Amino acid sequence: MSELRVGFVGLGAMGWPMAGHLKRQGLLVAVVNRNAAKAQQFARESAAEAPATLAELASLCNVIALCVSADADVIGVVREIAASVKPGIIVIDHSTVSSATAKQAQATMQAAGGDFLDAPVSGGVEGAKNGKLSIMVGGDAGTLARVRPVLDAYAARVSHMGPVGAGQNTKAVNQVLVAGIAQGVCEGLALGEALGLDPEVLLPTLLSGAAGCWFLEKRGATMLRNEFSGGFKLALLHKDLNIVRSLAQAAGTDHSIIEKSLADYDKLMAQGRGDEEISALIRLKRRAP
Ligand code: NAP
Repeated sequence: MSELRVGFVGLGAMGWPMAGHLKRQGLLVAVVNRNAAKAQQFARESAAEAPATLAELASLCNVIALCVSADADVIGVVREIAASVKPGIIVIDHSTVSSATAKQAQATMQAAGGDFLDAPVSGGVEGAKNGKLSIMVGGDAGTLARVRPVLDAYAARVSHMGPVGAGQNTKAVNQVLVAGIAQGVCEGLALGEALGLDPEVLLPTLLSGAAGCWFLEKRGATMLRNEFSGGFKLALLHKDLNIVRSLAQAAGTDHSIIEKSLADYDKLMAQGRGDEEISALIRLKRRAP
């Protein structure tokens, strides 16, 4: 692809900084967000365009990257793009959705003369801000090669995992680890609090040993201060774990961590805490008052 003209859809905790990297690389042309005021604000701050519709976005761009919330959003956005698309346009989806949704989106784009890559990301809001995401791609290798500069704008690593759907399957595996690590870290730090251990000493001590990990480093101190804003909303992990549960049930593998996490995040969502960061799980691990 000679000149990449990129559009970005979904300016949330992840999408906003990702679109910012594309702008700095000179690749970004325009942005769209469900709440249009956010797109207009981004456009003002970054000198990009903020068209009112996805059809207009498709007329301005030859690559459109998405980082929206859930399966229905991806299907809806891809359908609208495909309805007005020029042949050759490539959609890259960074949202976490099922591999079935990715395959459906690929079929929609290919029927319209374009192509589709599923390219979910890991690395959190910090990874998006620093441009250090791990990107797991499913789709045609030639299509990936054409849009590689887009991914390189915010990736520490780009892994081609196989055909469309393989990226989302990789992300499903990633989410089992994310959920399990959150269970372990939140349970451990709740115990540390109950034992009266000083977090100023406890956290660096744990981080220097075999228990050190991304989640403890990035969320340990904030969860102990009861700060649960920003980061990864627990309702989004709950959405991911429903996808993962179906995969594990079909594969016949153990899914006890997935079940425990779904039940816990269900409880927090019922308390109206769906927008809190996943480290809010520590609330359920503390001694009952
Ligand atoms: P978020 O902060 O809730 O942002 C989602 C953004 O997408 C919002 O700006 C939302 O618009 C927009 N959006 C949703 N549906 C849309 C649609 N149909 N058309 C246009 N815009 C739409 O979520 P996030 O944390 O950025 O996560 C986005 C995706 O990445 C999710 O699938 C999530 O699971 C995945 N992910 C998140 C993380 C993380 O650490 N946060 C890490 C890896 C992957 P509004 O402003 O109108 O709500």
